[in-house]
Amino acid sequence: MLAVISGPSGVGKGTVIKEMFRQRPSLTESVSCTTRAPRAGERDGVDYFFVSRERFEEMIKNGELLEYSEHFENYYGTPRSFVEKALLSGDVILEIDVDGALNVKAAHPSAVLIMIEPPSTAELERRLKNRGTESDEKIALRISRAEYELSKKDKYDHRVVNDDVAAAARRILQIIDAEKEVLR
Ligand code: 5GP
Repeated sequence: MLAVISGPSGVGKGTVIKEMFRQRPSLTESVSCTTRAPRAGERDGVDYFFVSRERFEEMIKNGELLEYSEHFENYYGTPRSFVEKALLSGDVILEIDVDGALNVKAAHPSAVLIMIEPPSTAELERRLKNRGTESDEKIALRISRAEYELSKKDKYDHRVVNDDVAAAARRILQIIDAEKEVLR
């Protein structure tokens, strides 16, 4: 099962996904490639494969990416071989943006798309503004990107509200299990 999880910046996607792995350690998370610089504490090969723009463009040309998109002036993409290998041994989680998710669905119709939603858009804006590490301009950019991501929610197979991290993680695992039953 290939499960694709998206959600706007600030929705707590990373925390929910971490909780899913705590509840079910047998899951594999795909490690994406990106051209953005690592943030403090991020490790190459764990959080992302950090690559140059030249290398990324070579990967696009060689068909090494299952999907990719460009936003916040950086490329992000899913390595095809990583996902195909991981799928041989179990369920794989991709955490990618809406454009990438819809491309994955087009290439792999059996992939399940799950959108994590905030309890309300007002709450999401509050969370984004409270991060405190970014300029007003960057925050405005993230808010408009969040609105764009949420505008695609009807194209997703499932939507889960992150009102409680453990409960949201549990609901996503239930969705994955139910979808696997359907595939059987
Ligand atoms: P961040 O820079 O905060 O780690 O991620 C920014 C955005 O890139 C997030 O919306 C995240 O879901 C998206 N993203 C991360 N990896 C990939 C990927 O492999 N493909 C695509 N299309 N988006 C990705």
